[in-house]
Amino acid sequence: MGIIYGPVPSRRLGMSLGIDPIPRLTCTFDCVYCQLGKKRYKVHGPEEVREPFPSPAEIADGVKQALAHHAHIDYITFSGSGEPTLNPKLGEAVGKIREFTDVPIALITNSSLLTRPDVFAAAASCDLVLPTLDAGDQDTFVRINRPAYGFQIDDIAAAIGKLARVVPIWLEVMLVQSEKHGSNTDDKVIAGIIDKIRMIKPHEVNLNTCVRPPEEPVDPVPEEKLDKIRARMEAALPGIPIVVVPKRTKSRSKLLREEEISAEILRILAVRPCTPTDLTDSLGINPAEVGKYLARLAEAGKIGRRAHKDRLYYTVKEE
Ligand code: SF4
Repeated sequence: MGIIYGPVPSRRLGMSLGIDPIPRLTCTFDCVYCQLGKKRYKVHGPEEVREPFPSPAEIADGVKQALAHHAHIDYITFSGSGEPTLNPKLGEAVGKIREFTDVPIALITNSSLLTRPDVFAAAASCDLVLPTLDAGDQDTFVRINRPAYGFQIDDIAAAIGKLARVVPIWLEVMLVQSEKHGSNTDDKVIAGIIDKIRMIKPHEVNLNTCVRPPEEPVDPVPEEKLDKIRARMEAALPGIPIVVVPKRTKSRSKLLREEEISAEILRILAVRPCTPTDLTDSLGINPAEVGKYLARLAEAGKIGRRAHKDRLYYTVKEE
């Protein structure tokens, strides 16, 4: 995958033009639910990344070209294959993009580096930040996110809280359960997360769970349990919308011309394996249609299938 990908239909951001501003699968965490595969690298910060980062000019040029080819983009989103705030010139890249477009810029981050002044400033220059916070206490943080040595959840949460005073924040809480790693859904852990959210005061909380197969033995949290946690958070955090990550609305399908749908399916599958239901939700088209496209792509040898916990996932075949 290059620096720019998509636009991909995102469950939270509509049609999102993705920017992957780091050289390879590099992150400050090693989350038990990560879907990036085993080839990823864990670092403390950009100083430990040996490969060159894409420059602000390269990123801006890529965005400019993509905007020229796609009429409808809801967000330009820094995300990609690892932690985007590792790019030490993220703020400069945001500034360069702003020189030629008004399309809002979003940042998806694991929050770990927001304690650094340069990263904080870069995040504050975006229109929307989607930081992750999966734990309120250090033990759960270490167990679920497996950060590089030295990261403290209290410092990270304080930095997110400071950021929420200057830019809209949709805080993502990824809830998981696992026999091997334990869960972050028991009463005490949720109480800790609620305390942190109360301090952060995000504009919205998105409760999410791993709907696609991670490498590790981790299970999604059932819908009823997610709903109970949502209700508990709503009662404890009046005034903060708590949303179970919404499924894509059908109206988005109008944005996708028929001939683009196969390409969109391939793009989505290049980022993560999906079931036909995931694709139906993402694309906003009916399951029978999705089935037709999948059959055609499989026949053309472009996608493969694999079973995981009684569900069938589609993947892009390596060239
Ligand atoms: S923060 Fe994201 S990219 Fe990094 S390990 Fe966790 S899930 Fe993977």
